Amino acid sequence: MAVAPAYSEYTDEQKDIIAMVRQFADEQILPNAEHFDHEDEFPQDIVDQMKELGLFGVTIPEEYGGMGLDLTTYVMIVEELSRGWISISGIVNTHFIGSYLLMKYGTGAQKQKFLPQMATGECRAAFSLSEPEMGSDVQALKATATKLDDGSYELNGQKMWVTNGLRSQIVFVLVRTDPKADPPYKGMSCFIAEKQPGVSENTGQYAGFVVPPPLKKMGYKGVESTELVFDGYKCPAENILGGEEAGLNRGFQQMMDALEVGRANVAARGVGIAQRALELALRYSQERKAFGKPIAQHQAIQFKLADMATQIEAARLLTHKAARMKDAGESSELEAGMAKLFASEAGRFCVEESFRIHGGYGYSKEYEIERLYRDAPLLLIGEGTSEIQKMVIGRKLLARNKI
Ligand SMILES: Cc1cc2nc3c(=O)[nH]c(=O)nc-3n(C[C@H](O)[C@H](O)[C@H](O)COP(=O)(O)OP(=O)(O)OC[C@H]3O[C@@H](n4cnc5c(N)ncnc54)[C@H](O)[C@@H]3O)c2cc1C
Repeated sequence: MAVAPAYSEYTDEQKDIIAMVRQFADEQILPNAEHFDHEDEFPQDIVDQMKELGLFGVTIPEEYGGMGLDLTTYVMIVEELSRGWISISGIVNTHFIGSYLLMKYGTGAQKQKFLPQMATGECRAAFSLSEPEMGSDVQALKATATKLDDGSYELNGQKMWVTNGLRSQIVFVLVRTDPKADPPYKGMSCFIAEKQPGVSENTGQYAGFVVPPPLKKMGYKGVESTELVFDGYKCPAENILGGEEAGLNRGFQQMMDALEVGRANVAARGVGIAQRALELALRYSQERKAFGKPIAQHQAIQFKLADMATQIEAARLLTHKAARMKDAGESSELEAGMAKLFASEAGRFCVEESFRIHGGYGYSKEYEIERLYRDAPLLLIGEGTSEIQKMVIGRKLLARNKI
């Protein structure tokens, strides 16, 4: 009988990459996260090192200067970065979604123009669906793009909660191009809106693109989340994702496809934060004594550790499965929804259990778990709330099992 190879979730190449990113997280992210979180300061030094490591071009093909790796390897990297600090993965996340959109739907000229600069991190991307009055119900969006006599489009309207809204150089933004379309999604387009990175009031060719001051948040500090105001901003027709002919009024489908990979990505962030919460709990519970022994020797604490570790393992496997399906060219809408739902809830659960294990010290800013406690809830919201994931999963289940 042939001897089966030892089981491993990872290829040798993935093991090497994970080891490299874990070392980066241990040496550069974890020791500095408290400072940047406390000051709500953009971690420029860390980002510069990420550029050198090529982490902005993980999935971008080698011909454009990226690493050309698959989504599965990417989610493994995101897990490691998020174990360090989820704000770091947030800086890469919308950039990754933007590069996915370009690789899949961009024209040759759009790819040539943006992907090489994106692979190095010189040009960073943001992704903008949400508006002040709309998040889950994307078809209710109000921002518009109207064609002008010179063939360009004028964008008007307000966007909300744009991660990397200020420092990005390009924003993939969904707007209405046919307000009369019924259903509304058939009249939406994705524009690659260019601007000056780091500038609030854009001028010259980017006039009419305003980035108000960053929103103040309970956690997820360091990376900015902003509104965007488009007020007569002119965008050339060639900046419609996929070009005017192929891309006009195709934006909703493009963005929903991007959300599918975005969900696998958020799931990986849930696994990463949960993993860090478990590590902190394992250490603290063996150091802290109560009733004459380390609290880890009390069965109630061991049960918490067991529940955490089991949820993390399951969340990781779901995340890898969703990514592998996408890499194989299959629709992973159901699996990505399940992974996002389960892993983000596992993140919240593990952080809370670890917080409880830390007792009063968990409430102190001296302990890392306090930051995780403020960061974890974001994952329940971004890329679709848990309620929305259940709607996606339910709909997909019924579609696959029609009688
Ligand atoms: C820090 C941060 C960063 C973000 N970054 C980005 C970004 O980069 N780009 C971007 O476009 N957006 C971003 N978002 C926005 C995020 O995607 C939205 O907040 C999210 O989609 C939820 O939308 P909402 O906040 O408008 O909530 P709503 O849609 O108003 O929902 C409110 C509540 O109602 C529930 N609900 C809504 N509809 C239903 C339904 N049919 N059935 C049952 N329950 C329902 C929701 O689950 C939720 O509990 C970010 C948000 C945050 C907080």
